[in-house]
Amino acid sequence: MQKIGQTRVLIIGAGLAGSEAAMYLANNGVSVVLVEGKTLKLNPAQKIPTFAELVCTNSLKSLDPYSAHGLLKTEMKSLGSFIIESAEKNAVPAGDALAVDREKFSAEITEQLKAHKNIRIVELEADDPIKLKAQFECDYVIVATGPLTSKALEVWITKEVSGDDFYFYDAIAPVVDADTLDLSKMYFKDRHKEMTEGGDYLNSPMTKEQYYAFIEELKNAEKVPAKDFEDWKFFESCLPIDLMAERGPDTARFSCMKRVGLEPDINGKWPFAVVQLRKENLLGSAYNLVGFQTRLTYKEQVRVFRMIPGLEEASFIHLGSCHRNSFLNARKLLETDLRSKKYPELYFAGQITGVEGYTESAAMGLYVAFGLLRRIKGQEPVNFPVETAIGALVNYIMTIEKPCPSNINFGLIPSIEFTKEMKKTGGKKLKKELVARRAQEVFQSFTSSLR
Ligand SMILES: Cc1cc2nc3c(=O)[nH]c(=O)nc-3n(C[C@H](O)[C@H](O)[C@H](O)COP(=O)(O)OP(=O)(O)OC[C@H]3O[C@@H](n4cnc5c(N)ncnc54)[C@H](O)[C@@H]3O)c2cc1C
Repeated sequence: MQKIGQTRVLIIGAGLAGSEAAMYLANNGVSVVLVEGKTLKLNPAQKIPTFAELVCTNSLKSLDPYSAHGLLKTEMKSLGSFIIESAEKNAVPAGDALAVDREKFSAEITEQLKAHKNIRIVELEADDPIKLKAQFECDYVIVATGPLTSKALEVWITKEVSGDDFYFYDAIAPVVDADTLDLSKMYFKDRHKEMTEGGDYLNSPMTKEQYYAFIEELKNAEKVPAKDFEDWKFFESCLPIDLMAERGPDTARFSCMKRVGLEPDINGKWPFAVVQLRKENLLGSAYNLVGFQTRLTYKEQVRVFRMIPGLEEASFIHLGSCHRNSFLNARKLLETDLRSKKYPELYFAGQITGVEGYTESAAMGLYVAFGLLRRIKGQEPVNFPVETAIGALVNYIMTIEKPCPSNINFGLIPSIEFTKEMKKTGGKKLKKELVARRAQEVFQSFTSSLR
């Protein structure tokens, strides 16, 4: 066992995850060297020189304890989250969401980190974490450099840790809540498989008229413009669906919307084109629209994707997007405590581990710091139960075969038995509330078992 006061941890990146991890470790007596490069040079998404900058919206999403985001915040608060505490101190009115005055929030975090007796701030653009760990005489290093990790470090990670399993671009397809689909208009069938019922894929068949009307709307819908630091370069095998529509009316019909292997449908009919939905989780409580990564604005996605038969009333767990994002294949490269398999003293935290979102990134900073503190104290590593929001996020990044960053959502948490009677009385809302209540109970008994 190491002596806490004599242990030094180098943290690279004073964003949401790095700031959270630094404060957690420092408050627990560990000496922290916190390295940040933005004071020397802002990246194109950053506007202010202070730490934990919210680069886009100022919202950390819902506080409702029965929403997935609210649940995550409750768990973080119970572990002593510095980020959530600072957000609450600098909150601005936003209904049941936690929105902040971003400059005050960032200034407060910077001041507190700078004032902490166990934290030393170093202004530096890191390139080689292992070399820096030795240079600053640290025992461990946490890389928390986020979706826009700077080039020099990206090169080192690719060479030393990840090879091809480090991704630089993120094209996300929308995910729908299974309970909101009209299954009478859809059918289960896997491509090229004879089946009378069941299958992993849910298909939405379109007539010729429906298909061309849909393509026309995709073409004309409002798109999110590329940021100036983003150069829209897509893999040919992963084109946004709206770009396919722009290339020609039949492009999608011969690509992800092809009917090949799906005709005739389960009722013996021949679709003109098909939208395929794939289960997001084993329980089938959420479905991903296969090949539907998109540049459409969120509002337009809801409007246009509800034209798909069976999705008229769909509720979207998250919407599609395309943006620059550096993240690892955690399942291949990291242990469950998010340390590198190759370098056991090197940890990754935040968005770079494959989660998405401000709160989720901070949660992964807290999770890594929590696990590292246990290691420093000589305690056994623990896995957060998958029924909890933190456990579900870790489980997601550690099991997803084709990494695709995700926000916290109920699709990641195992569902509960939901009787017809319960559905009638409380509907979807009650189901979420029950899952959230179970999560809170499991989280409490898990954390009390550690004391
Ligand atoms: C353009 C954009 C918009 C986004 N909008 C939203 C949104 O609206 N809502 C939402 O929930 N999420 C959003 N995200 C997603 C994401 O969750 C946030 O970016 C979040 O800040 C990630 O937290 P993090 O701690 O992992 O990284 P960051 O908060 O980005 O922190 C990383 C820190 O590391 C520093 N750094 C990078 N490389 C080096 C280096 N080599 N040496 C030293 N320091 C380095 C950076 O300067 C930065 O301060 C957005 C992402 C991007 C790229």
